[in-house]
Amino acid sequence: MPRPISARIHLDAIRHNLDFVKRTAAASRVWAVIKANAYGHGIERIFTALAAADGIALLDLDEAVRVRELGWTGPLLLLEGIFDARDVETAARYRLTVTVHCDEQLDLLEAAKPPQPIDIQLKMNSGMNRLGFRPGDYVRAWRRASGIASIGEIGLMTHFANADDGSIDWQIDNFDAATKDLPGTRSLSNSASVLWHPRAHRDWVRPGTILYGASPTGSARHIEGIPLRAAMTLESQLIGVQTLQAGETIGYGRTFSADRTMRIGVVACGYADGYPRHAPAGTPVMVDGVRTRIVGRVSMDMLTVDLTPCPHAGIGAPVELWGERVRVDEVAEPSGTIGYELMCALARRVPVVASSRLDAAQIA
Ligand SMILES: *Cc1c(COP(=O)(O)O)cnc(C)c1O
Repeated sequence: MPRPISARIHLDAIRHNLDFVKRTAAASRVWAVIKANAYGHGIERIFTALAAADGIALLDLDEAVRVRELGWTGPLLLLEGIFDARDVETAARYRLTVTVHCDEQLDLLEAAKPPQPIDIQLKMNSGMNRLGFRPGDYVRAWRRASGIASIGEIGLMTHFANADDGSIDWQIDNFDAATKDLPGTRSLSNSASVLWHPRAHRDWVRPGTILYGASPTGSARHIEGIPLRAAMTLESQLIGVQTLQAGETIGYGRTFSADRTMRIGVVACGYADGYPRHAPAGTPVMVDGVRTRIVGRVSMDMLTVDLTPCPHAGIGAPVELWGERVRVDEVAEPSGTIGYELMCALARRVPVVASSRLDAAQIA
């Protein structure tokens, strides 16, 4: 028997979330963002759930080639564009749309003679101060791009710094002022902006994390009531049970001591599986269908849970570390991170299974 841990990927949840995005930004086309191996869910595994997307966006040239080879014929966007001259030819061969955020990338395109022109998304730095042309330089960059023979259509794009926690009007205003005389499609919105800033929906939206059912803010309470379904369930089982007397401690560092007689469950899941070591006592977990909490320090291969609310749970009882009933954000937030990171950091040693049908956990 392998260790009982596994991650289940729910294709129906991704389809449902994509459909929700399409209804929420009904006038926009959708780039489904699947960078970082589809936020840890596996590009090949989830690919069929993306059929209703208008385009697919990611980072790696290799990932883009894989997506074409899976049979995707629609628009395919490289969010950071190309990195050297050889990439131009690959982009042309696989009909990739490339982000262009600096003059050096325009130099590469200008020097190349691809067999057909390459569509670009010209990126503006409207305030994020990571990638892109500054608003005052944008029209010049656009004019330069439109004079380059190897460039086809030019879309206009930018990315928000705080769509998850504040007003983004200042960035939208920067973008609109700098692009007011330019033709081309507009693409501004990440997940947070899809949910909370309809003014920024425009021609194309670019949701990532909400396709997987995680919160763009990192906090589960911000997506309460929004019909997003978790696309990943990390599940395991109890492999041990201990009864502690008052004053006894659990695990490394003896960080938790029982204040009464307590049953403690030992779960086959640790930080080497991708569960955050920083998760404090009190982090929620489902054991045998009952919500309880982890106690003691997370170790490499195991963690420990309070069995007080589930007195009948014994060895073999099912445990959901995160999924439909414990949102990944509820584990991430007390651990000082965001659901994005936990999903992306699922460890290679965890077997992953795709399930295409709704299961009981999701319907509940
Ligand atoms: C990652 C990324 C997105 C998606 O962000 P989410 O917060 O996951 O929705 C959109 N646009 C760009 C440029 C990105 O890099």
